[in-house]
Amino acid sequence: MEWIDWPLLKRKGLQHLITGYEIPVIEVDGELGEIIEVFVRINSTGKALTRQETRHARYYRSPFLKEASRLANRFKKHFLKNGIFTAGQIDRMKHVEFTSELMLSLVQGDVLNKKTALDRVMQTNSFDGRQLRRATSLATTTLNRVCSHGGCAAKLTWDDFTIDHIDPYSRGGRSQLENAALMCRRHNSSKGNRKNRRAAA
Ligand SMILES: [Zn+2]
Repeated sequence: MEWIDWPLLKRKGLQHLITGYEIPVIEVDGELGEIIEVFVRINSTGKALTRQETRHARYYRSPFLKEASRLANRFKKHFLKNGIFTAGQIDRMKHVEFTSELMLSLVQGDVLNKKTALDRVMQTNSFDGRQLRRATSLATTTLNRVCSHGGCAAKLTWDDFTIDHIDPYSRGGRSQLENAALMCRRHNSSKGNRKNRRAAA
């Protein structure tokens, strides 16, 4: 084994290996108890932080993130049982990241996986209370996988689900996420070209 010290590194011109080492730094804003909790969480695996863990540390007090965490944890069992996330991924907050992206995508009416868009929402708190409630409600319906036809609320399965145009396609309704609602087969075929009242509300 070779003993390497600073003068040797200098002779070899390799100082950058030390001086160029990037140290990740995260700013956390909150009560001491909250800060400790964040750091216990993010250090428990001994691995580099995931994007969501960093986000959690930085935007700990964001109402959007709090709501996304609450919702994500409500569906934790479902994620595990259906193999959507492993326990390890859940420990590393992948389910919170997924739920945040889902909420934002549903409100913006477009599929979103640009992580910077999430950071922006949390940083600026650009969602008002009304938008946040709407995001939560849309994400809950989606995660619950129930038929959106008024009064049905049948649990949808992989064998029995359809995606309905809220404004019917035959009447110019567009094939976009903001015009889509989950429906059981029976109700989507019985709806014809009428407007889906509950989903449109
Ligand atoms: Zn139905």
